[in-house]
Amino acid sequence: MNGGPQREPQGRRGRWPRLLLLASLVGFGVWLTTGATQAESEHGEILYLGNEGVLVRDGEHAVLIDALFGDGLDGYAAVPEEVRRQVESATGEFDDVDLVLATHFHDDHFDPAAVARQLRANPEALFVSTPDAVGRLPAGVAARAVLPEEGEPVVLEHRGIRLTVIRMHHGRNRPGIQNLGFVVELPTAKILHVGDTELSEEEWLALELPRRGIDWALLPTWQVKAGTIEAIAPRRGVLALHLPEPDAPAGWFPSSGRDGQIAALERLPGVVVAQRSGARIALAAD
Ligand SMILES: [Zn+2]
Repeated sequence: MNGGPQREPQGRRGRWPRLLLLASLVGFGVWLTTGATQAESEHGEILYLGNEGVLVRDGEHAVLIDALFGDGLDGYAAVPEEVRRQVESATGEFDDVDLVLATHFHDDHFDPAAVARQLRANPEALFVSTPDAVGRLPAGVAARAVLPEEGEPVVLEHRGIRLTVIRMHHGRNRPGIQNLGFVVELPTAKILHVGDTELSEEEWLALELPRRGIDWALLPTWQVKAGTIEAIAPRRGVLALHLPEPDAPAGWFPSSGRDGQIAALERLPGVVVAQRSGARIALAAD
């Protein structure tokens, strides 16, 4: 960690041509492949692990987000056993992770024992999450608890990665649940991950995210809507996360069913739905 967290300086308040950006995503191509043997893209990639868990990496940097959650919750994808073993033991392609992030403490996003195993096997890494997640970790784990006020993002830096932490509520009816949004800045791309937030369209607009130049927005399915995408204006695309598994109760899906939900989401510009652990998405065109 280079210095402590700091209030973000007020940025420029330029108005982005949101509709234009949205329109530019129409017909946007997606580089989605599956299989662990896939060669890493030159410009980095997002590796989907399960539920909202991803590894984001480019040549020199690697960040795990919501990927260490143990068994998770019934109805949502867990990380396959062998991959989970590697993530938790910091082996394979998870041996050089710089930052380990959790948006909130819920069981399908965070397991303190799993996080502690990764961090102990990988002493260079730092864990960043909410106070109520960090407070669940055993002693001696390199962790930073952050809980900015709404509208006052905090910036951290670790091993050359700039991380902006934004408070994003997990439903106004659940004020006790601390939930964070993260903007991870790699040399090749800026990635937004928002955990389980339930912001309204007005709240998304108030965040003025277009001025941040987000490349990829990683959103739970319930936030994947035209108005939200327009308010974020991601330059490359949207990865929809937290899709229930096929064996989840039918009532968790719209009347069109799971396939219908996937089709409806992917009709929105630039949207890819994360369906299979191991899917890889290139951060930029080669
Ligand atoms: Zn949650």
